Amino acid sequence: MREQLVFLLQLQQADAKVRELETAANQLPGKLEPLRRDLAKLQTMLDAESAKLAETNAWRKAQQELIDRERDALKIAQNKLQASKNSKEFGAASREVENKRKSISDRESELKKVSEASGASTAQLESRNKDVDGLRSQLAESEAAQAEQLAQLHAGLVEARAARDAARGAVEKQWLKIYDSVSQKKGYGIASVVKGVCQGCHMALPPQLNNILARMESIETCPRCGRLVYRKELLDPKPDPEPAAAEPAAAEPAAAEPATDEASSS
Ligand SMILES: [Zn+2]
Repeated sequence: MREQLVFLLQLQQADAKVRELETAANQLPGKLEPLRRDLAKLQTMLDAESAKLAETNAWRKAQQELIDRERDALKIAQNKLQASKNSKEFGAASREVENKRKSISDRESELKKVSEASGASTAQLESRNKDVDGLRSQLAESEAAQAEQLAQLHAGLVEARAARDAARGAVEKQWLKIYDSVSQKKGYGIASVVKGVCQGCHMALPPQLNNILARMESIETCPRCGRLVYRKELLDPKPDPEPAAAEPAAAEPAAAEPATDEASSS
């Protein structure tokens, strides 16, 4: 009996390990999602900013070409002014020169304002691009680390599953059946009894059942939670705490019937 109990406990431990590793392996890939989303968002913003900047630069180029053309027109007007033969021609030509000068100066001051602003935007865009590059390489590093972690988890899983299968192979079918059905319902299938209290559901066992457990001639189940039970001090003299989370005592109505007899063959 003692051997069977040891195998059952090994099975429980291996099952918990398999579950833990599976959960970790499933959750791991999602951990970098927030960073990936942030990066995509930043990249979209940067793309929009750089499209706007390109538009501004195209406008500046067109504006500069206009100014160049007006300078040519100014030269022609100035020549006309020099060649003017009477005061009427002189008056018209000087008005034209004045108009061209004003128009060129207006355009130039506007161009200057826009150029200054776009210079600042360019610098800002460059620094943001650098930040995004930094984030991207950070992501790449994290992905590499994660791949390694995942490989380790999978290797651990192979090991844990082998240990579980070995333990399952060693446990007799009758106990396995009870263990599996209780595990499915309650999370785990075998619980220790400390000072007459089932550590799975915290119910005090009937004294006669506790006495049967002391003889270790059979494996019994807890009348309340149905878990396979054993006296902790007989298997594991160390007073370490129960690993699995016990359910709250109020969650189950206390069952009054004694342990089932089917669990007493040895
Ligand atoms: Zn119990």
